[in-house]
Amino acid sequence: MPLYYGGLEAGGTKLVCALGTGPDTLVAEARLPTTTPAETLAAVVAFFKAQQAAHGPLAALGIGTFGPIDLDRTSPTYGYITATTKAGWSQVDVVGPLAAALGVPIGFDTDVNAAALGEWRWGAAQGLDTFVYLTVGTGIGGGAVVNGRPLHGLLHPEMGHIRVPHDWQADPYAGNCRFHGDCLEGLANGPALAERWGRPGSQLPRDHPAWALEAQYLAAGVANFIFSLSPQRVILGGGVMEQPQLFPLVRAEVQRLLGGYVQMPAVLTEIDRYIVPPALGGRAGVLGALALAELAGAAASA
Ligand code: ZN
Repeated sequence: MPLYYGGLEAGGTKLVCALGTGPDTLVAEARLPTTTPAETLAAVVAFFKAQQAAHGPLAALGIGTFGPIDLDRTSPTYGYITATTKAGWSQVDVVGPLAAALGVPIGFDTDVNAAALGEWRWGAAQGLDTFVYLTVGTGIGGGAVVNGRPLHGLLHPEMGHIRVPHDWQADPYAGNCRFHGDCLEGLANGPALAERWGRPGSQLPRDHPAWALEAQYLAAGVANFIFSLSPQRVILGGGVMEQPQLFPLVRAEVQRLLGGYVQMPAVLTEIDRYIVPPALGGRAGVLGALALAELAGAAASA
């Protein structure tokens, strides 16, 4: 009987659970609503226990979750979702109950770091050493692999909350981040598009001025990440990026902002292959959770 990994992608509205060893070998997958922590975690345990009964013990479980989260293994709240804005989920232990119920090694990281790992293992970042994965949806979040390791540091990157230039004359929209107002997320997430233009992005025509403005904000963020992390590729995912007209606009604006200073073919002439959509599409998160499990299993048996 093959050994399977479990993957859990925990989002603010739904969770995706999967069992398998990679994109082509998923043996089970389920979507569960995110309700209360107790109810939601019990449903996750029930799913994986049923899978263990059918397919044998899991090798490990990987969890990529919304946050902020505590990644410090020496902390008493390691494995917790900490000061989240998601009602009822502040200071919730996610790793503890799942580890106790399933008895397997657990890999734990942010949803975006997990998605980055998924793209690294099976998608658009294979073979790279340093890259950024940015998701643009209801929120904006970024994960990074730097020198072959997911970037953690003090906490974990919160790339959506960087400051970008905001011309109040051209764009009087105040931004919707409850912490910062007009940070990148506050100006360029899906809700900002809808509030600024009176209808969701999916209903705006492709030649609407909304997209040039959106590209301007996203490119400002991407240029800052290029200057600060020197990524070999930038992957842009999430619901807002499903508007294909955004990619050429973002690429052109990134080139304008770099100003010819980064003298590398990747950004000068090959930017179509440098700023790319996720190869795994919307499955990057849950597959990334499987990749986290793989790492946790390897670490536990090392
Ligand atoms: Zn913010």
